[in-house]
Amino acid sequence: MKLSMNPYQDILNKQRAFFKTGVTREKKFRRRALDLLLKAIVKYEKEIEAALWQDLRKSPFEVLATEVGFSKKEIKELAKNLNRWTAPEYVGVPLLISGPGSGKIVTEPLGTSLIIGPWNYPFQLVIAPLAGAIAAGNTVVLKPSEVSSATEQVINKMISEYFEEEYIAVVVGGVQVSQDLLALPWDHIFFTGSTAVGKVVMKAAAEHLSAVTLELGGKSPTVVDASANIKLAAKRIAWGKFLNAGQTCIAPDYILVEKKVKSELISELNHWIGVFFGNDAALSADYGRIVSDRHFDRLSRMLSDKERSAINPEDKFIPPTLLELETPEHPSMEEEIFGPILPILTVDNVDEALAFIQERPKPLALYVFTSKNRKRFERETTSGGLFINDVILHVGNPELPFGGVGPSGFGSYHGKYSVDCFSHKKAVQAGVTWLDVPFRYPPYKNWVYKLLQRIF
Ligand code: NAD
Repeated sequence: MKLSMNPYQDILNKQRAFFKTGVTREKKFRRRALDLLLKAIVKYEKEIEAALWQDLRKSPFEVLATEVGFSKKEIKELAKNLNRWTAPEYVGVPLLISGPGSGKIVTEPLGTSLIIGPWNYPFQLVIAPLAGAIAAGNTVVLKPSEVSSATEQVINKMISEYFEEEYIAVVVGGVQVSQDLLALPWDHIFFTGSTAVGKVVMKAAAEHLSAVTLELGGKSPTVVDASANIKLAAKRIAWGKFLNAGQTCIAPDYILVEKKVKSELISELNHWIGVFFGNDAALSADYGRIVSDRHFDRLSRMLSDKERSAINPEDKFIPPTLLELETPEHPSMEEEIFGPILPILTVDNVDEALAFIQERPKPLALYVFTSKNRKRFERETTSGGLFINDVILHVGNPELPFGGVGPSGFGSYHGKYSVDCFSHKKAVQAGVTWLDVPFRYPPYKNWVYKLLQRIF
């Protein structure tokens, strides 16, 4: 497609022109925009809650904790620390090489940013990166997921009420819209979604050498060894897995449990599922639904006839389901589950668990319940994040970068890392004019050459 035919070229042109004015770089402007975003969320809180109920049957508690509250906290952190996180960092200048002079690293906005979001935390996963882009001084086009359409509509209404299109715009629609947007020469593309679409995004970005951040998914393993507090492990895993009906990028995807503690773990998991959602999770106000028929069908194919008898396609309901597997040769182990199905595999020891993880793609999150083997997992595995004796909540720590590695993505954000994510670190050095050391200039002197040999 020719750029001139692109339906979104006009928005990009407007945002480019606005960015060029330099207004978005002003700290006062950024702070005001963060403040405005906060006000907008407060005003729309009830509509956001209703939309998330409609899209995912998300409970008001989960909306507050994982969507609205999370986003508000991120905005407040960014506003509070804006000066500190964007301040220039002064560095030394090596006297013999390029000094005397002064050096610093300047954090400057990348420019026009495109943020594409998924449907599982459809509010937080566009608003939190938006806050980072604002704090860093960028203009932004948001493309929320079309799958969570009620939330998509509220985001569109909210942002267009509070912001001018030349600064922050929302574009609604599906794959074609996303691809049209991706065809444009953005300064930065921030994508959250599947690994498969991440590849599409990266190819499109390569065309213009746009900077990219890929927040992708994959299977996040959970290890429970024999030294773990089994009761607490089961309680925390059951909470993290069935939050949002398992549709969380960092949900425990499957469990590797040491043989000796397997039956205790399973009985504790069943116990906590009952405590959290009652005998029939379909009646629980705190249990979500699968987002679409396509995902419902995808998940139901992972189940046997017996397990399938408990699901309800009309309501897109799948109960919390534990699968005790003899081997990893099972449909649930072929792809990221992204639903309330939890395979449990047995390992003889920690070595076997480590080998299992090492031979698979690097995950977004790795959870290990242990009182003895923490150091081994730290040293011998790679993942976006490693959380010992708990799940999910590391995402809420603004001091930690959140992102994947390899197939689970690259780049990271949250707190200071969000500012860095949407910024360029510019190297600035100033020389002096009162001194001009002659040694670098031809004709080169032999004694200088010998001196350099010593230095290098
Ligand atoms: P998805 O990749 O299908 O869609 C994400 C976005 O990309 C949507 O806005 C969609 O419109 C767009 N899109 C879809 N197909 C496209 C194509 N062919 N070309 C261009 N754009 C396209 O992902 P999803 O189903 O919305 O979300 C689920 C995935 O996201 C899971 O893999 C999950 O692990 C991952 N995820 C990751 C994080 C994270 O923070 N790392 C968070 C949430 C979800």
